[in-house]
Amino acid sequence: MRPSLSSTRVIGAANVAVILVAVVALMIMPGDDPGDRSPPEAVKVGQIQPTPPSGRPSSPAPSGQPSGQPSAQPSAQPSAQPSEPAPIPTASQPPAVVATPEFAKQVKANEAGLVPIIMYHRIIKKRVASIDRTPDQLRQELEKLAKQGYVPITAAEFAAGRIQVPAGKFPVVLTFDDGHPSHFAMDDQGRPAKNTAVAIIYDVARKYPSFRPVATFWVNHYPFGLQKQEQQASAAQWLHRQGFEVANHTWTHPNLRAMGTKKVREQIARLERMLKKLGVPPSTTMALPFGSMPHKKKAARKGEWGGVRYDFDAVFLAGAEPSLSPFAKGYDPGAVQRIQSNGKKGECRKWCSQYWLEWLQKHPGWRYVSDGDPDRVSVPKKLQGNIAAKRRDQVNAY
Ligand SMILES: [Zn+2]
Repeated sequence: MRPSLSSTRVIGAANVAVILVAVVALMIMPGDDPGDRSPPEAVKVGQIQPTPPSGRPSSPAPSGQPSGQPSAQPSAQPSAQPSEPAPIPTASQPPAVVATPEFAKQVKANEAGLVPIIMYHRIIKKRVASIDRTPDQLRQELEKLAKQGYVPITAAEFAAGRIQVPAGKFPVVLTFDDGHPSHFAMDDQGRPAKNTAVAIIYDVARKYPSFRPVATFWVNHYPFGLQKQEQQASAAQWLHRQGFEVANHTWTHPNLRAMGTKKVREQIARLERMLKKLGVPPSTTMALPFGSMPHKKKAARKGEWGGVRYDFDAVFLAGAEPSLSPFAKGYDPGAVQRIQSNGKKGECRKWCSQYWLEWLQKHPGWRYVSDGDPDRVSVPKKLQGNIAAKRRDQVNAY
């Protein structure tokens, strides 16, 4: 599975030519791989401090956003601690703006652009599999994202088109598969345990306040390695309250391609039934174990088994490239691309996160840049044709 960005997925070549001076320059150098060239230029799009259009009202966040709202401080924070622990950052979203074409132009908004959806597995000090990352590797990658102007959103927000990151910034989706204990655990004080994914995300958010601390955890039965239902419920609910997404990665993590459709539905519905018991909302996203699509593709997205229904906004692959914008023509919610977090060795010489994050730094014209306005889809006029028909009435072209 090595889809190429070049032809099919990316935005009609004719349309992009204008913005891609850099790309064109690279492409006319024969036999050279743009991804492996000199160090990334200093792209500062994310650091633009746009002048807001005058007199624009600030509209409230769109309704129906259970996650991502400012959350109450967790109750398990004893105030009589000898040394006061650092407060847990909240996942509140920035106030929405109303983007005029002038404003969208000023911030170089491009909501037809590519979004990196990064896939993590275990976060462990001694890596065993190549897909394992160490706590330091995760921390470094998240700090790099923060410095480059990326703001996390959940997969649920991405799939619903609720991409509310500040104008001029870039959405990124952090996804953790398999519900490993290294993703989330509580310490004795009832706080995220050191070096878990959640603790690292919070560390980075404290250091870089623009880095919104949210992520998606796609879990199987025994989420986060927890055996008891009370523990599972408390973990899932805590994460949900904080703005994290806990969603479906099937019951036992089978290869769905090797199963009949009924078994596929059972695998997904059982996990939905578990999440309901744990007291968190139904999943609106799911990730395919091994990225393996069942023969009946539709069964991964929507179905019913044993009286449990599921109907996801999007199904995620195990990926090899940034995703198209959910507003773009050609975006397939039944098979959304992700990028494995990894360096540039071996199979990851291309296709993993270091490669792609460098690529996006070097090709800013291809990247999704937010207009800060959740109701409008802002794009340069040249890219207007890349927006899906059902989003046409939201288009704000400049
Ligand atoms: Zn998995």
